[in-house]
Formats: sequence, structure tokens, C-alpha cells
Amino acid sequence: MLEKKPVILVIDDEEAMRDSCCQILLKEGLLTETAEDGSIGLEKVKETKPDLVLVDLKMPGVNGMEVLEKTKEIDPNIITVVITGYATVESAVEAMKKGAYDFLPKPFTPDQLRIIIRRGLERRKLTLETESLRKEKKLIEDSFITMVSHQLRSPLVAIMQYFEVIIGGMVGEVPGKQKEMILKARNRLESLMNLINDWLDVARLDSGQIIDKLKPLSLKKIIKKLIDDMEPLTKDGYISLELGSCSKNDLVQGDEETLEQVFSNLITNAIRYNKPKGRVLITIKENKDFIAVEVQDTGIGIAKDHLPFIFDQFYRVKRGEDQKIKGTGLGLSIAKKIVEAHGGSIQVSSEIGKGSIFTVFLFKGEKDDSKA
Ligand code: ATP
Ligand code: MG
Repeated sequence: MLEKKPVILVIDDEEAMRDSCCQILLKEGLLTETAEDGSIGLEKVKETKPDLVLVDLKMPGVNGMEVLEKTKEIDPNIITVVITGYATVESAVEAMKKGAYDFLPKPFTPDQLRIIIRRGLERRKLTLETESLRKEKKLIEDSFITMVSHQLRSPLVAIMQYFEVIIGGMVGEVPGKQKEMILKARNRLESLMNLINDWLDVARLDSGQIIDKLKPLSLKKIIKKLIDDMEPLTKDGYISLELGSCSKNDLVQGDEETLEQVFSNLITNAIRYNKPKGRVLITIKENKDFIAVEVQDTGIGIAKDHLPFIFDQFYRVKRGEDQKIKGTGLGLSIAKKIVEAHGGSIQVSSEIGKGSIFTVFLFKGEKDDSKA
């Protein structure tokens, strides 16, 4: 592919300076534009969209510092290099703070100019490449989400529905052996659906789609509702599930749907990885800036060497009694992402054979007096 020649805009009130810079740059195979003062310079920045702007700091009228700032506003990816007199090294430092890429003290040799311009252009190339890669990544992620949700999920839902109709005997009697196999197939399909749904959650979180507006929420309310919903899960294993002490203030800044998901995950784990006749206790505490929710279980616990990894995607602790328990290993990684997207954090402490405590810290929400 034929590469476009980079354009350098030289803004300086001294004609001799403009001419000499242009000559050096043209010999380098670069294109040049010139402007004799700051305001003409800025017009040309807008018009010609140069790759790099070389600007004298000391000019009458709109000075170099202003040109620098405005150029960054027009396009933050344009590289700016300032030319300074010897006496103004301090202003060069200020210019760098304002986003100048580099500075060139007067007088400078053609070589010094060439080196700085080459480096600046190299930086520009890298920045543009990074930017286009980022855009491409976002595009792939978005189309991945669409692909998974439409092309994969929809046919699965349809297959499940056919199974339901067959199992329900609506298209004729299903003999025992066949029914058994269809039920097995449906269960496998259900696991696959769960996996896809978890996947979608992860992808949506990565592309920042879920958490857009946070509002004050009562954690006590969310957790009470979850406990009611999960009651049936606790029956088989004789596990008790209860909400213990709650601080007076339980309001956090949060997104209801995703926070429900966090606690649902933690509570499901506490039930799943518990022991018969075990206990799950949830408490809500408050400190200066945070509300902390503790989900404590009397379960099988997690060994120290596994602890650092349990929040990783697809990580499941391999242990005898665990193998029977179904799961994708995504629950905690999703929970962590959600909590962190809220600016909060999640911690775990665990003792093998005794149980685990997962603690979620979330920023306090404002007191909503209108509801009091
Ligand atoms: P799912 O995606 O369905 O939640 P999962 O429960 O296996 O699957 P995570 O919730 O991410 O995935 O948990 C990761 C692993 O950490 C689990 O497989 C389990 O071994 C361990 N673990 C999580 N919570 C507990 C707990 N309360 N007690 C003991 N082990 C736990
Ligand atoms: Mg889980």
C-alpha cells in the first residue's frame, strides 16, 4: 500500500525559521505547511489536519502555548513539538505538561530537528495504530455479543421448546426409555444455555454496556428477595439460609439488576459448596464510606493455593466432592467485574473444612429522604 506522506505544520513568526525548517523537512521526504502566526496556524490545523505541529512558543498575538492547547482540543492525536529560546526552558516544561510531545531549544541543528520529528511521527503512528486496534476490538466484541445472542441462543431456545412439547406428550405418547433420553438431552441443553448466558454477561460487562446509571438501592431489600427466591434450593441439603444483623444504613450506589446477580452468585455458591445441615449467614455492615455485605458459609472451604484464582474466568477448584457440583466457573469472575464496575471490591477468606466468607464492599448511596 502506498503510504500517505506525513504533513508537518510549521508555525513561527520568523520567516527565516519557517524556511529553514521546511527545507530540512522536505529533504526528509515530508510535506510541509507554514503559518506566520498562531491564529493562521490554528486555521491550518483544522484545514489540513497535519500529523505534527512544530510551533514557536514566543509569538505576538496567539502564542505557542495557546496554539498547543487548541490543537489538542481539535485533535488530541496530533503530535506537537515546541520551539523555545534558551531563556525559556521553564516554559518548555510547562508546554510538556500541556501535552507537547517534545521541545527543541533554539538554535538547533538540522539533525536535532530531524531526530525529534522522526520520533514524533513514530509516536503518532503508534497512537493511531493503537486507536484503530481498540476500535477493531470493540467491533469484534460487539459482533460477538450479537452473534452469540442471535445465532447461537435463538436456535437453542427453539430446540428446548420442541423438547418441552415432546416431553409434555403433546405430539403423542413418549415411551419411558425415549423420554429419559430426551430429558437428559434437555438437561445438557440447559447447561449450555446457562454457559451462553454467563458468557454474554461477561462480554457485555467487558464492553461496559451494563452499568450506565447508578442509583441509591437498599441492599437489605435485594438480599431478602434473593433469600425468598432461593429457599427451594436449600431444602434438599437441609441448609439454613438467613439474613443476620443489618446496619441501619444499607443504601448503596448501585445498579439493581447486576447487584442482584452478584449476591445471587455468592449465595448460590454458599449453598452449593456447603455441607449437609450447613448454614449460610448474610450480614450487612456499614463503615465510613462503604457498606459491606458478608456471605458466610459453613461449607467445604477453599484451600490457600486455590484462593488467588477463584475469581478468574472458568476457574473451578478441583476436589473430589466438587466434581459432582455443576458450574461453569464464571460466577465469581462476573461478580468481581460487576462490583469493580461499581467502584467497590470483593474479598474472600476461607478455611478448608470450616467454610468461607465472601465480603462485598460498595460505596454508600445518598440517603433518599423522599422515601423515609
Ligand atoms: P458458576 O459459573 O455456575 O457460578 P462455579 O460456582 O463453579 O460456576 P464460581 O462461582 O466462579 O464458579 O466459583 C469458582 C470456584 O470457587 C467454584 O468452582 C468452587 O470450587 C469455588 N467456590 C466458590 N465459592 C465457594 C464457597 N462458598 N465455598 C467453597 N468453594 C467455593
Ligand atoms: Mg458459582
